[in-house]
Amino acid sequence: MTHHHVDHIGYAGPLAALTGVQVYTSAAEAEHAKWLYALADEDFGNLLSETYHRYGLPVESVKAARTDGSRYRRNTAPLPEFRLLRAGDEIKTSAGSWRIRIDTGHSDAQISLMDRERGLFLSVDFLLPRISPNISADIRDPDFDLLSAYFIYLKEMTKLPADMQIFPGHDWPFRQGGVRAQQLIDHHNHRLDLLSAVAQTAPLTVCSAMDTLFGRHFGDHEIYFASGEARAHLNHLVAVGRLHKQCDERGIDIYAAQDVVTA
Ligand SMILES: [Zn+2]
Repeated sequence: MTHHHVDHIGYAGPLAALTGVQVYTSAAEAEHAKWLYALADEDFGNLLSETYHRYGLPVESVKAARTDGSRYRRNTAPLPEFRLLRAGDEIKTSAGSWRIRIDTGHSDAQISLMDRERGLFLSVDFLLPRISPNISADIRDPDFDLLSAYFIYLKEMTKLPADMQIFPGHDWPFRQGGVRAQQLIDHHNHRLDLLSAVAQTAPLTVCSAMDTLFGRHFGDHEIYFASGEARAHLNHLVAVGRLHKQCDERGIDIYAAQDVVTA
């Protein structure tokens, strides 16, 4: 179980019961999954709607979030028992030996597996050939700068051997992982520059940052990912000192260029 997202963990419990297999994950992913799964519909709704309010999202979205229940519990069966893996652990099979990596970015502590001897890498959701992995601020810790951690990962990935065969969690197997990692670094830097440029003229909220980044309107499902992605980029701009975060009198987080705030 590489990370706690529902499209990876949703059926892990019943599948483990059905087959009798042991389920392995990292300590942080197990803890996050258990925390999310334990949140009752009402508590999840309250937390999400408070977060959406801070993001400056429209009142209808804030209201819908409060009453929609837990998107996590809706898509996740009761969790299995987990055995924990650590970075550097090795899983030996008859064909070779997988080394465990644990990285932060798309999730807290995703497990991926690499076999350098055979040139194989199960990158799961952190290195994808087509879409950029969603780097999304978490409702539990919306200020955390995930992008810094993801940049560290991507920088390391730029040095992957060009012929290493990479098996992602979505889409198709690919090679040239280093080229792809550099594309993703450029992609995020471009988005950071875009937000920073707009903030020079008028302060941003997460909601207006979504407009800048995506330029279109979303359904409730997509708002969850799009607002989290916008917030993660704003968090990074604050972390590196390019923007300054304040909370206004309505309780909405405002991001302004330093010199606008101090002027
Ligand atoms: Zn994922």
